[in-house]
Amino acid sequence: MTTATAVPDRLDTKALRAEFPALQQLVHGRPLVYLDNAASSQTPRPVIDALLEYYEKDRSNVHRGVHELSQRATDKYESARLRVQQFLNAAEPEEVVWTRGATESINLVAASWGRTHLGAGDDVIISAMEHHSNIVPWQILCQEKGANLRVIPMNVAGELLVSEYDSLLSPRTKIVAVTQVSNALGTVNPVQEIAAKAHAVGAVCLVDGAQAAPHMPVDVQALGCDFFALSGHKMCGPTGIGALYARRALLEEMPPYQSGGDMISSVSFEKTVYNDLPYRFEAGTPMIAAAIGMGAAVDYLNRVGMDQIAAYEAELLAYGADKLGAIQGLRPIGTAKDKAGVLSFEVEGIHPADLGTILDRQGIALRVGHHCAEPVMQFYGVSATTRASIAFYNDREDFDALADAIETAKEIFA
Ligand code: PMP
Repeated sequence: MTTATAVPDRLDTKALRAEFPALQQLVHGRPLVYLDNAASSQTPRPVIDALLEYYEKDRSNVHRGVHELSQRATDKYESARLRVQQFLNAAEPEEVVWTRGATESINLVAASWGRTHLGAGDDVIISAMEHHSNIVPWQILCQEKGANLRVIPMNVAGELLVSEYDSLLSPRTKIVAVTQVSNALGTVNPVQEIAAKAHAVGAVCLVDGAQAAPHMPVDVQALGCDFFALSGHKMCGPTGIGALYARRALLEEMPPYQSGGDMISSVSFEKTVYNDLPYRFEAGTPMIAAAIGMGAAVDYLNRVGMDQIAAYEAELLAYGADKLGAIQGLRPIGTAKDKAGVLSFEVEGIHPADLGTILDRQGIALRVGHHCAEPVMQFYGVSATTRASIAFYNDREDFDALADAIETAKEIFA
């Protein structure tokens, strides 16, 4: 890696940044440097406009009204689903279920598919670098069913040991649930290979795509996964919206997750007939505005171009790794060969919480803590890390500012 090569001007980050109102502000008197995108990205104007338009013109419920407003809202809500389907290259819109986010998507699979497919002595395989939301639902399910939770280990660079995965696989394996990109380390996992190996023993594969979908093109059919979870708020979309991709054949035989209105086609006191896919999994009035905003976010990402985003961010991440790596006393945590989005580190002699506060005073927003991945912290023997996480609107100056601010913090603690 070298800092000498200029980042190719594939993206006009200055122009893109201008479309994000929240990025225009001063924080503690300094221009905001936003490097907390793995927690939540910012919202561009077209997404805000889509939300406003719904609330100002189309506000009404979906799927139920014959009146003009309800029809407009329904059209926009369903057209957003189509955009997510195309974004993921899912075969059909019925394979996209709206959820509140990746957490709810995973809980849906654990509660519905898991409860009907897992028995005593079966295995669920996850990895050593999962977010809590891809650990705890499986732990609860395994406890309930008397099944075993197996964990693919990783090396000190933060790369999964695929040969160990091979030895965990057996006919007892029912589901393999892994993250495509680690939120704590930035590692990109070989999920295509992981899914193929799961299928070879008759298991299904869930990919937690919360940190992948914002940074690279996703093709669920090419990945060969059975389930894919994502969160809108990490992809320039509103909070409170996400999606679960699931293969139709699996969804068709899965029992409802939640029940009530909209997930039924008929109800009597004797018998309820469930609605068609995907509505069977969308009980109650959904997050209508957020789904419409999510459609606008997908349009926005497509306009910037997912290939462009991936290429630009790869070079920016390399620049950031070099810049931070040159700081005396800074230890990077997570040095996998294939990384996206995230640079985690600790600085000798400064607790991450103190570092985060000092950086905040200099207008730099990033995350300090365990990043909802406590097993990763335990693996590295730390209680917390400092994490800089990028989006396509970040640039080299953001890392220059971060590096300067870390040097200032070191002087304070010297
Ligand atoms: N998985 C990963 C890898 C994540 O980074 C996150 C969010 N930090 C989640 C799952 C959960 O996403 P949400 O909180 O949006 O449901």
